Amino acid sequence: MNRDMMSSFELFQPTTLGDALELLDQYEEKGWVYAGGKDSLDWFKDRVKKPEALIDITGIQELGGIRETAQGLEIGALVTLSALESNALVKQQYPILAQAAGRVASPQIRHAATIGGNISQDTRCWYYRYGLPCYRAGGNTCYADTPEGMNRQHCLFEADRCVAVTPSDTAPVLVALDARMVVRNSDGEKTYPAEEFFIGPDVDITRMTVMQPGDILTKIILPKEWAGARSYFEKVADRQTWDFALVNIAMAMVVSGGKVQKVRVACGGVQCTPRRLTGVEDIMTGEALGSDLEEMAGSVASRGAKTLNYNHFKIPLMENLVKRAIRNA
Ligand SMILES: Cc1cc2nc3c(=O)[nH]c(=O)nc-3n(C[C@H](O)[C@H](O)[C@H](O)COP(=O)(O)OP(=O)(O)OC[C@H]3O[C@@H](n4cnc5c(N)ncnc54)[C@H](O)[C@@H]3O)c2cc1C
Ligand code: SF4
Repeated sequence: MNRDMMSSFELFQPTTLGDALELLDQYEEKGWVYAGGKDSLDWFKDRVKKPEALIDITGIQELGGIRETAQGLEIGALVTLSALESNALVKQQYPILAQAAGRVASPQIRHAATIGGNISQDTRCWYYRYGLPCYRAGGNTCYADTPEGMNRQHCLFEADRCVAVTPSDTAPVLVALDARMVVRNSDGEKTYPAEEFFIGPDVDITRMTVMQPGDILTKIILPKEWAGARSYFEKVADRQTWDFALVNIAMAMVVSGGKVQKVRVACGGVQCTPRRLTGVEDIMTGEALGSDLEEMAGSVASRGAKTLNYNHFKIPLMENLVKRAIRNA
């Protein structure tokens, strides 16, 4: 691969959603939606992805802002992670989203990076990012899933040729909070539950979300149902800053009379999509909080995991994160 020159591209800066969608239709798979650029620029500077046209959406006002509506809290796709982190409504009603946003990368990156880009970003598997022709890049092998492969950060669940994981810190929170993702294209608008928005390699190995060329995520809706619920977020990484999660966890629960009425929990860093821990949710529902419940829920958290050569440590990590989440939510 020639890495001498960064490829040139056309830059478009539309100020309306209609114009952006028209440009995306014109360029199809050769177009690239560009928001904060913090994932995109890595691809371009490494000379691995070479779009013909960048459609910079940051000038489209209707994609910004955080507002309360009858459905819940609406967050525009262009809201930056630092704005999320400091927003009073988010902090008060859905504090785990503010916490997760505040654990992404570094303050400089969070000032530019958007929530839309954070959940739409591609996986960080180093072989793929380096430009090797693996399954995800259209080739016929996986470099990580080999006896010598560097797979310490790779998946425990739902592998299908590819063993890469979701790198997003906010994605598991949106699954735990049962968020809705609103996607527009020139045919209209569609809303997806967060759990369906993220897709695994069994559905399409070249994408990590339902979005296809021509689509723009416009906003995320956090349902009222989970506003003010007890909740917990934790990210474990090798370094406390500027590093991706080895495993992260997001939990939201409603407790009344000392018993769990309802709960949703999801982990990142363990499969290609945020993994909803339905086994943990089933064990917790209707039960009293306490050390017995923590032990029981922890013991089912990693059920079904299939380890690679270097990621066994993620199993006790997941189990302990579940216990800590129940204790501290
Ligand atoms: C050094 C470094 C450390 C990082 N650490 C972390 C970390 O700890 N945790 C973490 O979660 N992430 C991390 N990231 C990844 C990334 O920077 C962030 O996730 C960031 O939020 C991406 O947002 P962006 O707006 O910059 O996205 P962009 O780079 O603009 O876009 C990313 C992808 O999303 C698509 N996209 C963006 N917005 C939309 C939209 N509205 N509709 C449709 N498609 C869209 C783009 O086409 C592109 O494919 C890190 C990145 C770097 C460079
Ligand atoms: S884990 Fe996925 S992205 Fe990484 S080398 Fe294997 S196929 Fe490619």
